[in-house]
Amino acid sequence: MDHVASNVPTPGIRALATEAVHAGREDLVSLGLHAAPIDLSTTYPSHDVAEEAARIDAFASTGVRLDGPPVYARLDNPTTARFETALARLEGAADAVAFASGMAALTAVLLVRASMGLRHVVAVRPLYGCSDHLLDGGLLGTEVTWTDPAGVAAAIRPDTGLVMVETPANPTLSETDVRALAHACGSVPLLVDNTFATPVLQRPVKQGARIVLHSATKYLGGHGDVMGGVVACDAEFAAALRQVRFATGGVLHPLAGYLLLRGLSTLPVRVRAASASAAELARRLAGDPRVSRVHYPAVGGAMVSFEVHGDPREVIAGVRLITPAVSLGSVDTLIQHPASISHRIVAEGDRHAAGVSDRLLRMSVGLEDVDDLWSDLSEALGAGSERSGRVGAASAAHCQAGEPQSAVR
Ligand SMILES: *Cc1c(COP(=O)(O)O)cnc(C)c1O
Repeated sequence: MDHVASNVPTPGIRALATEAVHAGREDLVSLGLHAAPIDLSTTYPSHDVAEEAARIDAFASTGVRLDGPPVYARLDNPTTARFETALARLEGAADAVAFASGMAALTAVLLVRASMGLRHVVAVRPLYGCSDHLLDGGLLGTEVTWTDPAGVAAAIRPDTGLVMVETPANPTLSETDVRALAHACGSVPLLVDNTFATPVLQRPVKQGARIVLHSATKYLGGHGDVMGGVVACDAEFAAALRQVRFATGGVLHPLAGYLLLRGLSTLPVRVRAASASAAELARRLAGDPRVSRVHYPAVGGAMVSFEVHGDPREVIAGVRLITPAVSLGSVDTLIQHPASISHRIVAEGDRHAAGVSDRLLRMSVGLEDVDDLWSDLSEALGAGSERSGRVGAASAAHCQAGEPQSAVR
């Protein structure tokens, strides 16, 4: 059996690849179906008003998923529920709650904590640009203390409701030791954004994180055609999230739930194949004199970030096979310039302090042939260094003079 996640699997739990194609589909045989159905109902009929009223009361006061039909689609949806069950299983969590986007998911987590008077968040930069913005901008009344992992314990206050980290982080792919960080958090819940690694490479719950967040828009959907977010966590936190989702309405559409469940079935295969190509591209980039630094995480994955001697915008302008677009985790390869696009919303000083260089490019490697990808990238790099004149030659000499050229691990 191929237990892919780095931790030792719990006895009796099936391997990740098996869960990916079976979890959440347990009721299909009794329904006489092979593929999961899509339930697009916004409402569900009931002739028993008293019973219906009691069910609404029970849901609103506990957040615990109702047995039987959901009453109204903002409470729950059977198609979305299948995706939630499957994702929870893959993450090794008791439950999961899905939202309309990754940002809606993070918003719900912050509202759960704020509703308990815990508005202070300790967070490690870099984070995805909009997550940084949501915390830093104070839109939800959140107050944030930015620190590095070593400073987390000292930054925690009596009103700290959450510690938040991304590992590997967007866009530098810097990594944090989740086990050590969870220990430093004490009783404060640790949220790990696992969008980049996916449960195929890393299961933060097993390492002590209480909350695992995904932009399901990325690898979980995997085809660039569905937007969603999901939080994997324990039953108590999931119930609180369902109450917030019911009240605020950031629900995942059932068609998206259907596509995300389907996406999960190929997640292990996609992530492993794209990671192999990403590791190879990271190796080739590290040996290229037009590239000053390569970031590739120890945990692996399909993201590669690299800094160029020339103008990174010229590389974006030069790609032909690779799509110059924000987002990541699709079957095709995407590249973007974080300082201009994904992390534009983060103040320049904060970006630089978090290690996001203006020369950094972030590439999400897809399932194309690795040699085709390299030809395209290599030509685009050529375009970048030609147009920036002698910079390439000068920096190649600089590298020979002992400048560390690459941080590939
Ligand atoms: C994209 C992304 C998000 C936000 O998710 P949306 O689905 O775009 O709302 C959060 N975290 C990370 C790491 C991301 O890459």
